[in-house]
Amino acid sequence: MSRFTLHIATISGIPIYLHWSFWLLLLWVGLSAAFSPHATIEFVFWRLLLLVGLVVSVILHELGHAFAAKAYGIPTRDITMYPFGGVASVARIPEKPLQELVVALAGPLVNFLLIGVLFVILLLMGEPAFFSLEALFQLGHGFNSFSVWLYSLATMNGILALFNLLPAFPMDGGRVLRALLAAKLPYVRATQIAALIGQGFAVIFILLGIYSNPFLILIGFFVFVAAAQERQQAEQRNAMQGFTVAHALLRQVPTLSVNQTLDDAIRLLLNSQARSFLVLDPLGEPVGSLSREQIIEALSEGKTRTTALSHVMDTQLLTVSPLFPLHEAFRLLSEQHKPFLVVTEGRRILGIVDTENIAEFLLIQRAEQLRA
Ligand code: ZN
Repeated sequence: MSRFTLHIATISGIPIYLHWSFWLLLLWVGLSAAFSPHATIEFVFWRLLLLVGLVVSVILHELGHAFAAKAYGIPTRDITMYPFGGVASVARIPEKPLQELVVALAGPLVNFLLIGVLFVILLLMGEPAFFSLEALFQLGHGFNSFSVWLYSLATMNGILALFNLLPAFPMDGGRVLRALLAAKLPYVRATQIAALIGQGFAVIFILLGIYSNPFLILIGFFVFVAAAQERQQAEQRNAMQGFTVAHALLRQVPTLSVNQTLDDAIRLLLNSQARSFLVLDPLGEPVGSLSREQIIEALSEGKTRTTALSHVMDTQLLTVSPLFPLHEAFRLLSEQHKPFLVVTEGRRILGIVDTENIAEFLLIQRAEQLRA
């Protein structure tokens, strides 16, 4: 992560970041307010305060997704705010349609709750409660700006909720659509249809953005790429169906001894094709794993080459049987950030399985299918 990315809070164990590009948005809002014909200190102040309210609303929206996912036992790594919105990095998307539906709806639901709270505050202040696009344009032009700010924020939350509910997969509404389709169709087919519709929306966003708001162009690109990624993931998963880790087993396991040093690991990394190593104790029992990333990290943290591997390696090995489903292995690898899973039968190590070997297996599989 860039050093301009700011960690602003940690809520319920989930770190919340402002991505470095977010400062561009702040600059844009500040400058466009400052150079508008109504540029008074008051005007710029209320514009920036509206941005703060909006950011808090988006973070709460993402926390809605995160808490719903948590209820199904799915952790969230972090929430990052980009100029075009927030992204909650949920460890995985639930495969059960009902669960995906609930997690997708939890975000917009938070915005509707916020609107309720804002309306109650307005009513307590003796003001009527309604949405007002006019307030958005008037904000900062004098006269009781606090209530105008409340109207503006409620309206922004309404726009946020409705925009997110558009069936533009993988935005929230698109996830709802996929979940509904997946209740009737195979998961991969449901994803392909939802992704196609999502990319249609993405093109519309980009075209509309050219004539109105540049952030709509950003959102369009984001949706287009993300839809393609999710379709690819679903297709990959589908291709793994019916296979076990035995099919993608890497039998020649690169190993290191726990008595060796970081220097030995660096030499082996440079002199071989291996990207990660299984660390064995003197009896030949597996005690840890060491990946290229861990070696680099250890060096950048100031560890010397004479450091024993036991201080650098990851001691949490994940072990599976050769009959373990391949798609589950793939999910474990990406969810747990492990370089590989150790495949054992009884006490015997058969080999390891990593994402690269799984990808290779799938490519071979596909090439043979195309030939047939
Ligand atoms: Zn959302």
